[in-house]
Amino acid sequence: MARTSDKQPERHLSNGPLGARASRISALLAEEYPGSAGELCALHHEGPFQLLCATILSAQCTDERVNMVTPALFAAYGGAGELAAADPAEVETLIKSTGFYRSKATHLVAMSRALAELGDASPSAFPTTMAELTSLPGVGRKTANVVRSVALGLPGLPVDTHVLRVSKLLGLTRHTDPVKVEADLCALVPEHGWGTLSLRLIQHGRQVCVARRPRCDACILAELCPSAQLGEHLPASRGPATTRSRSRPSKRAGAGP
Ligand code: SF4
Repeated sequence: MARTSDKQPERHLSNGPLGARASRISALLAEEYPGSAGELCALHHEGPFQLLCATILSAQCTDERVNMVTPALFAAYGGAGELAAADPAEVETLIKSTGFYRSKATHLVAMSRALAELGDASPSAFPTTMAELTSLPGVGRKTANVVRSVALGLPGLPVDTHVLRVSKLLGLTRHTDPVKVEADLCALVPEHGWGTLSLRLIQHGRQVCVARRPRCDACILAELCPSAQLGEHLPASRGPATTRSRSRPSKRAGAGP
C-alpha cells in the first residue's frame, strides 16, 4: 500500500452565478459556525487512528454516545497494534451502546490489523490517500473524508445525510448520490474549504435546516436559498426554536457519518 498523500484531481471552480452563490453561502456558514475542521468536529480523538475508530462507531449513533465509549476503548487498546490483537467479543462489550456493535467490533479489529501491518499506525505509516483509506475494512468514502479533512489536514468533503439534504435544498446540487454530491460541492469551493463546508452544513442541518421542518425564518441563508419558503409548507416541528441570536453551534454536530 502506498503511503504518500494523494493530490486530488485538478478541479476547476465554478465561477458563474452558482459559484458566486456557493461562495457567499460558504462565507455566511463560516461566520455562523466558526472554527477549523478540528474544532468543528465533535468526535473526541487524538490523531487519525482514534478518529478513524470514532467515525466507524458513529454510524447510526450520536457523537455524544461515541464520546462516552471511546475513552474506555482507547484506554484498553492504545493503538492499532493493541486493537488488532483484541478479542472482538471484548471490544463488543465496550462499544455495545453505540448499536450495531458486532459489525463495528469486527470492523475495528480488522481495520486495526490492516493498519498494524503498515507499522502500527505510526504517523509516518498512516494511510492518507482515499484509495488507501477506503481499502481498510469498515472504511467508506465518507469516513475516509472525515479522517483526511479533520485529522490529516488534507482535502476531503464528507457527505452525510445532512450534507445531502441541505446542499440540495440550497440548490448546490441536483443529485442524491453522495459521490456525485461530493463532486458537485467540491467544484464550488476551494479544496482547503471542503472539510469545514461539510461540517458547517451538518451543523446547519441539525440546528436550523432540520429535516422535519426547516426553520427558514431563522436561517442566515434564506436570501440565497431557492427553498426558503419550504418550512412554511410543512407541519410544525416539535423541535426547539432556533433564532439568529444563537451565536455558537452545539458540539452535538460532528463529523460522524
Ligand atoms: S432557507 Fe430554509 S430550506 Fe434553505 S437552507 Fe435555510 S432552513 Fe434550509
